[in-house]
Amino acid sequence: MGAIRTLAIGGGIGGLSLAREFIIRGLPVTVLERAPQLNPVGAGIIMNPNAMRVLEENGLADAVRQGGWPYMIRETYDRRGNLLAIRDYRPLYSGGKISIGALVHRAHLLHVLYEGLRSGVVRFGVRVRKIDLLPDEVRVETDQGEIFVADLLVGADGIHSQVRDHVFGVTEPLYMGYRSHRFVVENNLGMENFTEFLGRGKRIGLVPISKNQLYVWTTFNSPIESRELAMTSADRFREFFGEFKNERVGTAFSQLESTDGMICTDVEEIRRGGWVKERVALLGDAAHAVTPNIGQGAGMAMEDAAVLAQEVDAARDAPRQLPEALGRYVIRRRPRVENVMRLSRQVGAEGQMSNPIACWLRNHRIRRAGRDAPRMLEELERLLAYRI
Ligand SMILES: Cc1cc2nc3c(=O)[nH]c(=O)nc-3n(C[C@H](O)[C@H](O)[C@H](O)COP(=O)(O)OP(=O)(O)OC[C@H]3O[C@@H](n4cnc5c(N)ncnc54)[C@H](O)[C@@H]3O)c2cc1C
Repeated sequence: MGAIRTLAIGGGIGGLSLAREFIIRGLPVTVLERAPQLNPVGAGIIMNPNAMRVLEENGLADAVRQGGWPYMIRETYDRRGNLLAIRDYRPLYSGGKISIGALVHRAHLLHVLYEGLRSGVVRFGVRVRKIDLLPDEVRVETDQGEIFVADLLVGADGIHSQVRDHVFGVTEPLYMGYRSHRFVVENNLGMENFTEFLGRGKRIGLVPISKNQLYVWTTFNSPIESRELAMTSADRFREFFGEFKNERVGTAFSQLESTDGMICTDVEEIRRGGWVKERVALLGDAAHAVTPNIGQGAGMAMEDAAVLAQEVDAARDAPRQLPEALGRYVIRRRPRVENVMRLSRQVGAEGQMSNPIACWLRNHRIRRAGRDAPRMLEELERLLAYRI
């Protein structure tokens, strides 16, 4: 029997990471991506230390760092710009306890992941029409009538996963009650640290992703049926976030001439569904979309990819043991993902508080917790020192 042939649906961060992990182990893999080319999303992304550890192991960390900005310090302020807490990662870095995090443009990250593959591994512009799970293989037919046959099918097709819906039945993402805008402006004030502002039912993050670029994210409470996400103008947008009285926010927002290019996303989760069945595995958002509050969704997809590759590699000489390998993937990943999901959800719930007294108490809690640096470092280490 030959090597295990893997077909991944979806060439986002998860699918490209999976391909990289398979290729460095000499495992055959093809990725089908429906977009005609790499999706150049106009936003930044936080590559937390655990994600950077995966990239160090698979050889792409230097390239990611070259186009990004080191993640050294996270500053948290209230909506008026009063400092609540500083999280300084440097003692953990200098002690070698965790890898140095990176703040990067998404387009740069995707480019590095893609460049890490042989040409032909990713097939762009391919839409899946039909998936057949047969006893000994998986057959996938595309809209163009092309047929792909594999031993293992990986659904890396994001939160609205077609593979997940086909294999496990339709699962609607769970809307968490808030939305997020994202865009990139010039880093006119030379900001160096991840800086966030907590308001009432709203938050703003300013994240340097290079010397000259600042990634801006917001969150805001919003009923699911609201049309508020379609901000009509830059002025309307500034007015909507008018409670944030700080020069850094003002300088970033003043650069907006229109809302063109601004991304607005519903914050949603995929919880506790199946991840594997026979010859199919899900990873990343397809399996477990996480809220963005601690910058871990892509990190989880990268960790998934590395663990899945390890388990498939271990079964490479015994393809009949693939189902057991997939079972081990779930056992290794589920507790970690569920923990991250829970933490992220909690941070989101705190951050989206809107009652003035609740916000005051929250800010007080954050200020108090910020004074206990050793405890904060311990908690960060527990989350970020994850080893595959
Ligand atoms: C507001 C916001 C901020 C975030 N910030 C961070 C952060 O700072 N750090 C972090 O680690 N994570 C962050 N995340 C999460 C992160 O973006 C996701 O977890 C990550 O992109 C998931 O990668 P994925 O490959 O699983 O899915 P996706 O990135 O969604 O990729 C799926 C791919 O599959 C393709 N596809 C879909 N259906 C099909 C099909 N039927 N056939 C072929 N191709 C298909 C899509 O075109 C896409 O390219 C954030 C998320 C949000 C919403």
